[in-house]
Amino acid sequence: MTRPVVAVVGGGITGLVAAYRLRGALGPDARIVVLEQSERLGGKLHTVDLVDGPVDVGAEAFIARRPEVPALLDELGLGDEVVTPSGARPLLYAGGRLHPLPTGTLMGIPAEAGALEGLVDDATLRRIADEPDVPLQWDPTRDMSVAALVGSRFGEQVVRRSVDPLLGGVYSGLSDTAGVRATLPTLAAALDAGATSLTAAVAAALPVPSDKPVFGTLRDGYATLLTALEEAAAAEIHLGTTATGLRRHDGRWSLHPVGDVDAVVLAVPAPEAASLLRDVVPSAAAAAAEIPLGSSVVVALAIPVASALPQNSGILVATGEELSAKAFTLSSRKWPHLAERDALFARASFGRYGDDALLSASDEQLVTLARADLAAVTGVDDEPMAAYVQRWPGGLPQYQAGHNDIVASIEAETAEVGGLEVAGAMLHGVGVPACVASGTTAAARVAARMAG
Ligand SMILES: Cc1cc2nc3c(=O)[nH]c(=O)nc-3n(C[C@H](O)[C@H](O)[C@H](O)COP(=O)(O)OP(=O)(O)OC[C@H]3O[C@@H](n4cnc5c(N)ncnc54)[C@H](O)[C@@H]3O)c2cc1C
Repeated sequence: MTRPVVAVVGGGITGLVAAYRLRGALGPDARIVVLEQSERLGGKLHTVDLVDGPVDVGAEAFIARRPEVPALLDELGLGDEVVTPSGARPLLYAGGRLHPLPTGTLMGIPAEAGALEGLVDDATLRRIADEPDVPLQWDPTRDMSVAALVGSRFGEQVVRRSVDPLLGGVYSGLSDTAGVRATLPTLAAALDAGATSLTAAVAAALPVPSDKPVFGTLRDGYATLLTALEEAAAAEIHLGTTATGLRRHDGRWSLHPVGDVDAVVLAVPAPEAASLLRDVVPSAAAAAAEIPLGSSVVVALAIPVASALPQNSGILVATGEELSAKAFTLSSRKWPHLAERDALFARASFGRYGDDALLSASDEQLVTLARADLAAVTGVDDEPMAAYVQRWPGGLPQYQAGHNDIVASIEAETAEVGGLEVAGAMLHGVGVPACVASGTTAAARVAARMAG
């Protein structure tokens, strides 16, 4: 048998996991080629050096209650690198002041009025309390935005002060551009199953309480995982190489600039996937082109250890506040290993879907803005010892209402042509665990097809 050749387009976490899994499934003789258009691997995972040590300026954590990342780290011998959060609680900045982040909500949606006491006004609290008495219109065949659902049941304050900050933290978007089915699948399931109110659906969808930490991170940043995957995948990696054309001929694939290959995994953001799919599966390309992206900027600040940074893990910002920042991660308070360093680290995040203005601001302007916003919220205005500005143009796909139908159509159309897989953050979850799962599934499908 001739040596199998598989191309993986995109060297983010999804593409690297796909390459690693393909190596495992196809064995040492397979030729696995990874094309990455930038000059580094990792995509939205990026670890930089700040004050003599690593700091993540893209994703900084993973959901540890999902199995994919802990299992992958164990497999790669990196289980001991995992750090769990300190237990410090996050805050919410709303109405010009700090509040504890409400507990017992599903992405900020309360299961009872008491959860939002102090954050929203009395009329809103009464509305939440009375919500079970108001007949609920939910069509199990349709989708809607989270803002429309929550706004219609609880009012705008709940949307802007409680739900937006949490959804914005995950998707760089607002609840207006988040569809219920894709962003809150357990809530949609409870509503489909006949919940008679939103509060009842949230109560049914809330995860079972657990002592296990929700999040984990890596002691030396995501770079550790990227390096281990790169080594274990033993792939031909071409940095600074953009895949620009995909064609099918004689049962194989022709991928420019690689040449002929047996199978292709596209692990790139939606617009790039759309452009590569255009000639081979036009209907899937059209569907992928419907997924919009939200941009953001992360400014990592290193400030003196004596600074009076609050003893909280982070601060989410409600919509409509007089601040540019959407969130702060108080990294040295959140992660015990960073608390041991010779500086305090804080990350300010800017930008939301539809608001790309800050992408074109200079590094200096962004650092000034980060400092001013941190000072406005916490009173801390120490001169930074160092700062790092990372822009993420199109950093996160927006899972709008109808997203699951778009994904179903991309997957159904590509499944009809053998040896082509689409994977990554645009499909079944933007988080690192979902991307690991997606890369794994894509590799398994390619391997199954090649086996016969
Ligand atoms: C600021 C920020 C913070 C985040 N925080 C978290 C977090 O704390 N926890 C979490 O779980 N998730 C987080 N996420 C989400 C998560 O990091 C991403 O969704 C995930 O890393 C995406 O991985 P991916 O491999 O699917 O895509 P990407 O990382 O986008 O990788 C795709 C790669 O394809 C390359 N590429 C594109 N087109 C081509 C082409 N034509 N040819 C060759 N290469 C191409 C790109 O250069 C890129 O490297 C965050 C995201 C952002 C932006």
